[in-house]
Amino acid sequence: MTRVVILGAGFAGQTAALYLRKELGKDDTVTVVAPFSYFTYYPSLVWVGVGRMSEDRPIFDLEPVYKRHGIQFKKGWAREVYPDQQEVMMEKENGETERVPYDYLVNATGPYLNFEGTPGLGPHGGYTQSICTIGHAKQCRDAYLEQIQRMEKGEQVNIVIGTGHGMSTCQGAALEYITNLHRDLLRRKVRDKAKIMWLSNEPRLGDLGVGGISARSRGYIMDSETFAKSLYAEQDIYYQTQSAVTGVEQGKIHWENYEGEQGETEFDFAMLIPQFKGRPIRYVDAEGNDITGKMTNPLGFTLVDGGYGKPWGEINDKDWPSTYQSPVYKNIFAAGIAFAPPGSISKPFVNKNGTNITSVAPRTGMASGITGKIVAYNILDMIQGKEPTHREALSGMPGACIASIDKSTWNGSAATIIMYPVAPNFRRYPEYGRDLNITSMEIGLAGAWMKRLLHTGFIYKMKGLPGWTMIPE
Ligand SMILES: Cc1cc2nc3c(=O)[nH]c(=O)nc-3n(C[C@H](O)[C@H](O)[C@H](O)COP(=O)(O)OP(=O)(O)OC[C@H]3O[C@@H](n4cnc5c(N)ncnc54)[C@H](O)[C@@H]3O)c2cc1C
Repeated sequence: MTRVVILGAGFAGQTAALYLRKELGKDDTVTVVAPFSYFTYYPSLVWVGVGRMSEDRPIFDLEPVYKRHGIQFKKGWAREVYPDQQEVMMEKENGETERVPYDYLVNATGPYLNFEGTPGLGPHGGYTQSICTIGHAKQCRDAYLEQIQRMEKGEQVNIVIGTGHGMSTCQGAALEYITNLHRDLLRRKVRDKAKIMWLSNEPRLGDLGVGGISARSRGYIMDSETFAKSLYAEQDIYYQTQSAVTGVEQGKIHWENYEGEQGETEFDFAMLIPQFKGRPIRYVDAEGNDITGKMTNPLGFTLVDGGYGKPWGEINDKDWPSTYQSPVYKNIFAAGIAFAPPGSISKPFVNKNGTNITSVAPRTGMASGITGKIVAYNILDMIQGKEPTHREALSGMPGACIASIDKSTWNGSAATIIMYPVAPNFRRYPEYGRDLNITSMEIGLAGAWMKRLLHTGFIYKMKGLPGWTMIPE
C-alpha cells in the first residue's frame, strides 16, 4: 500500500491527484491537503474583477469530486514537513494540528502573495487591489464599481495597473485586466473619464517575464514590444516600465526606476500584482534541525532537479527542472509555482540604489498542469522501483497568454500570445530561442472563443468528469 500526499488543490495539485488516483491501486491512498475545499480557475478572475462574471463561476466545490474519485481530502494548511519521518504537520481551521504520513509527497502549494514586501500594497489594509484570489477579485470589482459611479457623475479618475514589486511576475494577468478594464469602460461609456496607465517591472513593454516574444506575422518578424505598444496606442493606455513599486499610500504609488530615480504616480484605483514567494512551509529533520534552507531557495520555492546557482547569461535550456524531484529527499516532488526556477528568463537588473527590478519567471497554468502530471507519473515510476523517467522542462513546454479584451463570444476579442517553449531554448532555436512555426501573436474574435473554451474545458477536466484525460493540460 502506497500513500501519496499532495499539498495544494490548484492547477498542479489537482492534476497530480487525478492522475495518481486514476493509475494507483485500490489499496493505495491519494490525500490532498489544502486550506479551501474549492478549486479556483484563476484566469477567469480578470472577468470577476471588472464585474463581467459572477464570483461563483470560476470556482467549484472539490468535495464531490474527491468523493467520486476516491481521493481523501484534509482541510488545512501544511505548516511543517518531517522528511525523515515522512510526515506532514497540517493546521486545521480550528487551530488543531494533525500529522499526515506519506510515502511520496508533492508540494503544489502555489504562490505566497507577498504584499508585505511593498508597504501599503494590497487589499489587506493597503491601498491597492489584487485579482490573485477569488476574494481579492470580488473586492477589486467593488472598488472598481465605486470608481465607475464617480465617472458617471463626470469625475476624472486615474487608474494604474501592473506590478507592485520590483520582483513581481504574472504580468500576463495584469495585461489581461487592463485590456478588459479598457473595454468595460467603453461599454459603460465612461472611457473618456479615465486615464489608464500600465506600470511594471518589465525591462521593456511586452516582456511579460519571458524576455519578450518574437513571432512571424505576414512574412515579417514582430516582437511583443511592438505588439504591446500598438495595443496600448489603440487603447490610449500610457505606460511606464523598468520600475519597482516601493510603497503605496492613499492615492500615491512610489516607485524607483532603472536609473535609480524615485517618483510618484497618483491613482484613484490601482490593481498591482505582488511579488510571489513560496508558501512558508518548514522542513525539519530527524534531529529537529530546521533544514528549510536545504530544501528551498531564499524565496521559499522548492529546489528540485534544476541547474541552480548559475549567473543569468549562463542559464541554458538544460538547467530548467524536468522531473521535479527533490535532490535531497527523492520521495518529495514540487509542481506548479511551488518549484524553484533556475533564474529569471527576463534580464535581471539591480539599480544603483540596490533595488532589484527583475521580472521573475512565470509558471503559467498550462505549465502547472503539465508539471502536476509529470510528477504523478514519476511517482508511479518510483513505486515500480524505477528512477523517474518522465521529463518536461519549461524550455520544452508551450505557454499561452490569452489576454481577453472582452468575454463576449459575439463581439469579444483577445490578444493571444502562444509561445514555444516558455523558457527560450537557444541551442535548438539559435536565432530567437523559440520555434517561430508555433510561436504566434494575434488579436481577434477567435482568441475570445478560445478563452471561453479554456474556462469551460479546464474546469471540466479539473472536475474529473468523463473523458477528462482527453483534455490537454
Ligand atoms: C488573475 C490571474 C490570471 C491568470 N491567467 C492565466 C492565464 O490566462 N493562463 C495561464 O496559463 N495562467 C494564468 N494564471 C496563472 C495560473 O493561475 C497559475 O499558473 C496556476 O494557478 C498555478 O498553479 P499552482 O497549482 O502552482 O498554484 P495554485 O493554482 O495557486 O494552487 C495552489 C494550491 O495550494 C493551496 N495551498 C496554499 N498554501 C498551502 C499550504 N500551506 N498547505 C496546503 N495547501 C496550500 C492553495 O489553497 C491552492 O489550492 C493566472 C493567474 C492569475 C492570478
